[in-house]
Amino acid sequence: MTTFAELGLAPDILRALDDMGYATPTPIQEQVIPLALQGGDILGAAQTGTGKTAAFALPLLQRLLPFANNGTSPAKHPIRALILTPTRELAIQVEESVKAYCKHIPLRSLVVYGGVNINTQIPILKTGIEILVATPGRLLDHVQNKTLMLNQVNTLVLDEADRMLDMGFMPDLKRIVALLPVQRVNMMFSATFPEEIRKLADSILNNPTFIEVARNATAVTVTQVVHPVHHERKRQLLTHLIKTRDLKQVLVFTGTKLGCNRLANELNKLGLHADAIHGDKTQQERIKALDAFKAGTLRVLVATDVAARGIDIEALPYVVNYDLPHNAEDYVHRIGRTGRAGAMGEAISLVSESETRYLRDIEKLIGSPLATTIVPGFEPGAADVPVYQQPRSPRPERAVEPVVERPVERAPEQRSAPRSKPAASRDSLFDAPYVPGTAATVAPVANRQPPKKQVAALFRSPVKPESAGQ
Ligand code: AMP
Repeated sequence: MTTFAELGLAPDILRALDDMGYATPTPIQEQVIPLALQGGDILGAAQTGTGKTAAFALPLLQRLLPFANNGTSPAKHPIRALILTPTRELAIQVEESVKAYCKHIPLRSLVVYGGVNINTQIPILKTGIEILVATPGRLLDHVQNKTLMLNQVNTLVLDEADRMLDMGFMPDLKRIVALLPVQRVNMMFSATFPEEIRKLADSILNNPTFIEVARNATAVTVTQVVHPVHHERKRQLLTHLIKTRDLKQVLVFTGTKLGCNRLANELNKLGLHADAIHGDKTQQERIKALDAFKAGTLRVLVATDVAARGIDIEALPYVVNYDLPHNAEDYVHRIGRTGRAGAMGEAISLVSESETRYLRDIEKLIGSPLATTIVPGFEPGAADVPVYQQPRSPRPERAVEPVVERPVERAPEQRSAPRSKPAASRDSLFDAPYVPGTAATVAPVANRQPPKKQVAALFRSPVKPESAGQ
């Protein structure tokens, strides 16, 4: 097994990794670190939870070692590395990691993001910092205010580029890249590679090496299960699962901000300590909820996709999809919050009839059907209302309105392309009439081990045999 020392990392970095308890590199670290130490551009296909932060941050820090100094003059600490992330939460976490990795090195880092008073960030910027982690909008605010200079940046990292695209940050990214010196090392990470991301990669990266780790695949340590249920009984089923299984630290995803608030309130009324995070919450509220959740004092954290982006909690044990995401790739992102760095995790999806199309999209994306189990007493055929109160003809289920959250810090200038059309609804699960007391289990299918490539050529279209020799 390869060690961090064998990857060529410096003793001061190895010491920090030791302090953090990192024993061996993860697959993406094994592949990215040696290449990045040589200064090559990298395009990484890796989801959150694979250890990609250290994969880009460690070589970045090592390449800055010659510049590390204890000088007090700001001129001795120009911004040399810029790490861009789509959300404040991810930015905060990345910078926390960077700080921990350079614990024994006199390099300074700072995180800047929108939604908080810009004036609090300025004095620290003035003292000089080498590594800046930023969300794109706030970075441009600082550029406009002339409170930072980017003319000495020699390394650029774009983290979760697909999410930046989804959030409408593409014009901001282009403006930022235009401000950087041409001579620099670039690393870009994305879980998915739609056309626009490939174009962005083409425009930013210079002859990059493409590194792929479990692309579009869910972490193999995550057990995934689907519980079909009537949409009106989801809350009861969630409460039932949490209480009967005594689940702690449960991250629950809802499709809308409204639903997020409502569910957290209802869970609290039912005696489960819950809080909500979504785009309408202030940064302080989000951080408070996250900290309580991390510390284990908050049992359930209800979140929307954007707010939960990049949440990094050691060994988060449970992720619940209360609403299935309408975009299958979000499923992969969501459940990437659990089963991290080898820890075991469980992803539970509560699926109502109207969501079967999204389930089918997810199964198509991850390449295997999900194990499906009906929880006794929560058979999907009926809502929990007495028979005499049920309408004569079945009430059509209200579709969950997708609410696309926008980055709070700045209005997007570009909307992402519409998502793929939903497929036809999944067959029989919801067709059977409700028979009280029956329980059924649809045969579980083992989660497929995702294919793993070593280093693949970057999006080169396959050479056709007939043209190969030309
Ligand atoms: P990331 O994918 O960068 O968000 O990392 C996911 C989690 O794995 C974080 O909590 C890291 O601190 C942790 N981690 C990253 N690399 C390692 C490693 N080599 N050994 C143990 N934990 C790691």
